[in-house]
Amino acid sequence: MTAGDFGALERVGLNLQAVFDIAALPEGLRTRLASLADDPDRYRQLILIGNAGPTLWASVKAASLDSTDPIDDFSTRTVDEWFAAHYGNTPSQHLYPGDAPLDLQSLGRLAGWHHSSPFKIGINARWGTWFAYRVALLAGTGIAPTPVSQGESPCNRCSAKPCTTACPANAMESGDFDLPRCIAYRRRAGSACAQTCLARISCPVGTRHRYDEEQIRHGYGNSLRMIEWYAAGAIHRG
Ligand code: SF4
Ligand code: SF4
Repeated sequence: MTAGDFGALERVGLNLQAVFDIAALPEGLRTRLASLADDPDRYRQLILIGNAGPTLWASVKAASLDSTDPIDDFSTRTVDEWFAAHYGNTPSQHLYPGDAPLDLQSLGRLAGWHHSSPFKIGINARWGTWFAYRVALLAGTGIAPTPVSQGESPCNRCSAKPCTTACPANAMESGDFDLPRCIAYRRRAGSACAQTCLARISCPVGTRHRYDEEQIRHGYGNSLRMIEWYAAGAIHRG
């Protein structure tokens, strides 16, 4: 096995990479991956790639893609180019972005990236909540698997929990995250969370890696459009 050379990904902000040997994954996940693979015998590894901090967004803007989903398109294209440059015609299959039912947060936990925050966005001690999953692929590679560093959740040591009081919907007041309450607030006219999450912004962990305002507006604007799209579908189906 050889160490992965992720330099081309690092440079554009795809700076989180985790390589798993499929044979070493928990049985349930192995079964899930086998059911998603076009031919399970072709793949030995699962490669998970993410971004942390604002660099990826700067790279996406610089690429000026004519796309309604520029982050996904840029990430997929960049990973494909990286993979072809290093592994040629080695078999690979994208699982994400796409419709494959893959629990990215579970993979993030296995990689040591993800702890659950009170508002259910992943958090870790270094990046805070300012990271995201971008690409997952099956591959016939023999890259040295990534050592996992399982740190403690920063939320365990955060006694003030400013995220809970910053939320204008009080969506965490019961101790559990009330997603319908969050969504209802976000859909209100004049909502302060139409294009951001005040709870996320208030978290003191990893603030120097915070996405810039434009990326935050882009991400939350997209998610609100998806919420309205689903709501319109429910109304029409009803
Ligand atoms: S404010 Fe505290 S409890 Fe809330 S997400 Fe950040 S670290 Fe966790
Ligand atoms: S988006 Fe707004 S309403 Fe929803 S959890 Fe974040 S702060 Fe609360």
